[in-house]
Amino acid sequence: MTGKLIYVDMDDVLCETAANLCRLAEREFGRHVEYEDVFAFDLQKVFALSDDEMRRFMIASHAPGALLTHPVTPGAPDALRALRDAGHSVDIVTGRPAYAHGDTERWLAAAGIGDFPVTYVDKYGRDKSYAHNEGDPPTVKLDELLARKFDVVIDDSPQILELLSGWKDTRILVFSRPWNASFALSANMTRVGGWRDILAALL
Ligand SMILES: [Mg+2]
Repeated sequence: MTGKLIYVDMDDVLCETAANLCRLAEREFGRHVEYEDVFAFDLQKVFALSDDEMRRFMIASHAPGALLTHPVTPGAPDALRALRDAGHSVDIVTGRPAYAHGDTERWLAAAGIGDFPVTYVDKYGRDKSYAHNEGDPPTVKLDELLARKFDVVIDDSPQILELLSGWKDTRILVFSRPWNASFALSANMTRVGGWRDILAALL
């Protein structure tokens, strides 16, 4: 397989976001949930946060410096470079708010993968509630993303996976996480346990 366009999600694919947010929820909101028990993608449900607490949680989790503390998912940086070396194009497609681009870029640079393109997509319809600052990169609408063509998608979000289940010509690698354990894979999907599996599937 050569020269494929590969969409790689960021949170819980390149970095260990949920595990780190469990620590934030405990520290800031007194909610103790183990990573293995993060049963849903909706963290408001997982941490039993009120609407106001959730609003504050989203702000705290994207506050300057907070994103920099997410640990690297084992093998991710080397794997991205290996995919590129094999002739593939890798596009990091994240649902993070565009205002978080500074820390996102710093994190990627620190991980040694600051030279891959990042696309900010309003994956969850939250963009209206986000701050917008001059100089932020553009936010791509979900419809616009879905009109694009990728050969391979690597994501962990059940909501996004559901939307992609009809992409018959796209190979979807479902990054296995507790919140997608019960997600029913469609014919174009394969479950992967980590970057070793991903490279085995793609190289
Ligand atoms: Mg993700």
